[in-house]
Amino acid sequence: MGIKLHLSASTPAKSIFVFFCPACKYMHPVHVPDWHWDHSMTHPTFSPSLLVPSPIRCHSFIRNGSIQYLGDCEHALKNQIVEIPDWDEGTAVRFRPEDEGKEVVNV
Ligand SMILES: [Zn+2]
Repeated sequence: MGIKLHLSASTPAKSIFVFFCPACKYMHPVHVPDWHWDHSMTHPTFSPSLLVPSPIRCHSFIRNGSIQYLGDCEHALKNQIVEIPDWDEGTAVRFRPEDEGKEVVNV
């Protein structure tokens, strides 16, 4: 397993990491320390769960480098556990800047 996370933005008070969600086919941001992070770039665990409410509801636990999609997801990978794709510039190209700062709720 390689690097799963990309540091998208950082200030002394906050870091925003993104990872590629294979269900939504774009990046989801995770704000630290709003979320607890275990400081692993290769097998990251975040808590609590990550909820992206729109355009397609995507609710997951990120644990040990994998995405555990919960049953209330509105996409085909709900109830499945999928390894986070390794970060590369190819996935970065698919990042839609308009998704940056989209409402994400920790629950
Ligand atoms: Zn997603």
